[in-house]
Amino acid sequence: MISFSKDLIVDYLKSEDSEVHDFLLEKAERYRLENRDKAVYFRGLIEYSNICSQNCYYCGLRRDNRLIKRYHLERDEIINLAMQAYNAGYQSICLQAGQISSNKEVDFVADVVATIKKLSESKGQGLGITLSLGELSYRQYQQLWDAGAHRYLLRIETSNPLLFKKIHPPDQSFNQRLECLQALREIGYQVGTGVMIGLPGQSYEDLAQDLQFFQEKDIDMLGMGPYIPHPDTPLAGEQEEFIPDAFATTIRMLALARILMPDINMVASTALQSIHPDGLKMGLKAGANIVMPILTPEENRRDYMLYANKKHSAFETLQQDIKAASYEPALWQWGDSPHYFKRKEEHA
Ligand code: SAM
Repeated sequence: MISFSKDLIVDYLKSEDSEVHDFLLEKAERYRLENRDKAVYFRGLIEYSNICSQNCYYCGLRRDNRLIKRYHLERDEIINLAMQAYNAGYQSICLQAGQISSNKEVDFVADVVATIKKLSESKGQGLGITLSLGELSYRQYQQLWDAGAHRYLLRIETSNPLLFKKIHPPDQSFNQRLECLQALREIGYQVGTGVMIGLPGQSYEDLAQDLQFFQEKDIDMLGMGPYIPHPDTPLAGEQEEFIPDAFATTIRMLALARILMPDINMVASTALQSIHPDGLKMGLKAGANIVMPILTPEENRRDYMLYANKKHSAFETLQQDIKAASYEPALWQWGDSPHYFKRKEEHA
């Protein structure tokens, strides 16, 4: 495993020399091609509910935001969206919602997952299902795994416990999140985590530590994106800014992550695509190999605003943009993280 000292990572992130930026991108591309290929895999993102029991200071879905209309798609609507995606060439979907909190809701998702698996497997390989539902108990994660989900995304948001405390209310704990990530790993999920970049009070040292955290936790999937203020959240008013260019820093973070963890799956996030017209292209150039087109029904999308001006690209447009950036849209394939299989083999 390659490792960089924290100081070296900070130097790479901070440098104003454009040659350093180019060097990182070139190296990331080389590592990608040596370890992977030009394939970009699709995860159809179904944001099936914006109901959230948590109150994160940065997120538009937070419980106390009374300015959004709460929605929850019906069982059959979710299943139909998933099957439409499957028929269009997606081999994987991601079911996302605000923090879910009741056993009844977990039972609901487990039933949806099991039904989608059954229906899609009757037509071939079936859909790979990723979940992103927040912090659950071991038993609940196990129930969803048994129903057929096999990947889970749970961002740590920042690996600095003090910063974590600043951006979350007192009832949310850093350790709880670590325990969730550990539970997911023990159950057998492909585990994805990630951070926001450019948070008020976040330093380059924090970001360097984030990369070391991902390596140490031996993660399979990574989702990093710029922090984008949402006007109706407490954090929107915070001015303490140490990272002046969240977009360029995210690109460097992606490139460094690809160099340090060549065989993981890494997403070109919607947030990255939302803050810059070249977000997708630059994200791919920096080593991202996953995109998550939004499949949420049109009428609900405006109510799933995690941050201001969230962008959405249609499936076809994304495919064209991927090709234009000289990468290959990989349809009809699951595109699981090779890192997952390697670590499983090593620990067999
Ligand atoms: N409830 C699930 C969870 O907590 O993992 C999934 C939904 S949550 C809204 C998905 C991710 O959105 C969070 O992990 C966070 O990193 C990101 N997010 C929320 N607010 C954001 C903001 N203002 N800017 C950028 N990303 C944001």
